[in-house]
Amino acid sequence: MKFIGAHVSASGGVENAPLNAKNIGANAFALFTKNQRQWVSAPLSQKSIEAFKKNCDDCGFDSRYILPHDSYLINLGHPDDTLIEKSRAAFLDEMQRCEQLGLQLLNFHPGSHLKEISVEMCLNRIAESINIALDKTAGVCAVIENTAGQGSNVGNKFEEIRYIIDRVEDKSRVGVCIDTCHTFAAGYDLVTKEALDAVFCKFDEVIGFGYLRAMHLNDSKKGVGSKVDRHESIGVGAIGNAAFEYIMKDSRFDNIPLILETPDEARWADEIAYLRSVAAL
Ligand SMILES: [Zn+2]
Ligand SMILES: [Zn+2]
Repeated sequence: MKFIGAHVSASGGVENAPLNAKNIGANAFALFTKNQRQWVSAPLSQKSIEAFKKNCDDCGFDSRYILPHDSYLINLGHPDDTLIEKSRAAFLDEMQRCEQLGLQLLNFHPGSHLKEISVEMCLNRIAESINIALDKTAGVCAVIENTAGQGSNVGNKFEEIRYIIDRVEDKSRVGVCIDTCHTFAAGYDLVTKEALDAVFCKFDEVIGFGYLRAMHLNDSKKGVGSKVDRHESIGVGAIGNAAFEYIMKDSRFDNIPLILETPDEARWADEIAYLRSVAAL
């Protein structure tokens, strides 16, 4: 079965996210459990935690299809020994919020070398950061998102993600989220069926579908290999409909959250309905 949703607003409290997701016809969703542009947020209140769980139950959302995203400030591969501690502490807090909410996945961008250390050193630091967080928590899977390769962000090549996974001690608690826009911008062509077959064959070879825990479904404003991370609404960007129809009809993408991060929120309900109609064919 396909579980499709969007990264919805949690403004006013995390408990509002499932309600917002229900309103657009989603059976999966993503959210920030704290302000994504601030280092420190107030802890989740007991009231908010209970309301979140109740709203998820009432709206029929299963925690396996809820994909919290961490703060944009966190850099788990930070070259500086002091500064990386701030990111590791914030990431642990994100993980613990997931634990409190009864969630099983935490989606994050691997990190950036800031042109101060090599890609390999950065990947080693990221793996170490993940190990530290997994050691101090239970039940939450660290879901690494592939990147567009913008700036000094690592994780735009499948091999780099594999390199991190290889160094994570608890393989049962590490996974991958493939963002279609990032994949395309990173240089993997997704326009034709042949190209899609080749990319997902490569993904399976290098990382393995066993690690695929989520997808972000976004079209791209920029062309293949642009290294520019600009999301576009489904079907109107440079990727086009074929990729989304391919994913909807392929059982390798069953039973994981498929999340829209497309820029026009007003289209989300229609985008979900469209994807569902394709999946049902
Ligand atoms: Zn992301
Ligand atoms: Zn994404």
